[in-house]
Amino acid sequence: MPTADRTDLDHTHDPGVRCGVPGADGHPDFPIQNLPLGVFSPADGARRAGVAIGDHVLDLAAAHAAGLLTDEAARAVAAAESGDLAGMLALGAGPRRALRHRLFALLRADSPDRDRVPALLHEAGACTLHLPARIGDYTDFFVGIHHAMNTGRQFRPDQPLLPNYKHLPVGYHGRASSIRPSGTPVRRPRGQAKPPHLDAPVFGPSRRLDYELELGVWIGPGNELGNPVPVAEAADRIAGFCLLNDWSARDIQGWEYQPLGPFLAKSFATTISPWIVTPEALAPFRIPQAPRPDGDPTPLPHLLDPADQAGGALDLDLEVLLSTASSREAGLPPHRVARSNARHMYWTVAQMVAHHTSGGCNLRPGDLLGTGTLSGPEPEACGSLLETTEGGKAPLRLAHGEERRFLEDGDEVILTAHGRREGFAPIGFGPCRAVVLPTP
Ligand code: MN
Repeated sequence: MPTADRTDLDHTHDPGVRCGVPGADGHPDFPIQNLPLGVFSPADGARRAGVAIGDHVLDLAAAHAAGLLTDEAARAVAAAESGDLAGMLALGAGPRRALRHRLFALLRADSPDRDRVPALLHEAGACTLHLPARIGDYTDFFVGIHHAMNTGRQFRPDQPLLPNYKHLPVGYHGRASSIRPSGTPVRRPRGQAKPPHLDAPVFGPSRRLDYELELGVWIGPGNELGNPVPVAEAADRIAGFCLLNDWSARDIQGWEYQPLGPFLAKSFATTISPWIVTPEALAPFRIPQAPRPDGDPTPLPHLLDPADQAGGALDLDLEVLLSTASSREAGLPPHRVARSNARHMYWTVAQMVAHHTSGGCNLRPGDLLGTGTLSGPEPEACGSLLETTEGGKAPLRLAHGEERRFLEDGDEVILTAHGRREGFAPIGFGPCRAVVLPTP
């Protein structure tokens, strides 16, 4: 287990601290040890920055106005006054950590200010959650090694991985404009596809709609154009994490992707969980990057840092759940389709940032990276239906008797992530969910 330098652990990771907000202690996602950042609007108000605590959202602007934040913590909240967190993310780890420490002190059951907290809280169920920042650019990687192997094998049994895979984190520029927060329905896209039995392509609703289980990575402080971020400094550019569903139309993708990569097969929708789980909250769940198997190349020096290798990976349990129109009608719980873990990344997020900027490209606060599909080695750990059903050949049997090769209208896909480690309070990301609607 973790061998990395643990100076990133402090009293905010103490599992014994009780929270003054009812329901927060033992909450599966948002106990006092998490404190993820987001943007919400209460039933009667404008959008503003908030923090999830149990089944409530704490209004950061109201806490600031009440004089409960000072110095760096106040600076962090003031930078998000417009209801967009990009300015706060841009400040980096210092103000973000100060805000965490102040909120932890404010929300504990024995806080001297505990009587002033209830006035700052909104019931989460009555709030609308928004994207936490206007996303300038979105890049999706392909670092899930088992996903790369599983999908590569379907097309190239003899050579599942292309020659570049172990030398650089492969990625492509995605589409920021169609990213939506959890809960926003997704329309089945129309597109051009050429099924193998036809001689010419056809245009119509996708028949092979799929999900991809990924983590999203929020960029904090950016870099100037032409100034690459060294891998040893890359972790400082990361402001936090979310879940990301990279919806994929496999029939459109299969026809369009060569030679320039994914385009309309991916650009119609991406769903993310709305809370930014900070690197501080995730500190207990950092683990060493898995050693490369014998015979794999050592990364070039600009992509390799000992500290990153020692603690740059994340141990997070990931799940994909699926409900259908008829399973919901019958009152059945969602069916668990897959169980995986964020540790199955061949490259760390710091290596993704270092590679992204190595040619001079500038990242900006509020940019979003996707890791790529995080499948595990087991059949039940596949992060996409393309893998689970072997491209539609082996249908998935759901608990209530239905079958799926790919997604059908009315299906709801739910992604979850949880950090669990002996001696620490478990934390979660909150769900990343969306229902598939028919093509209009
Ligand atoms: Mn993807």
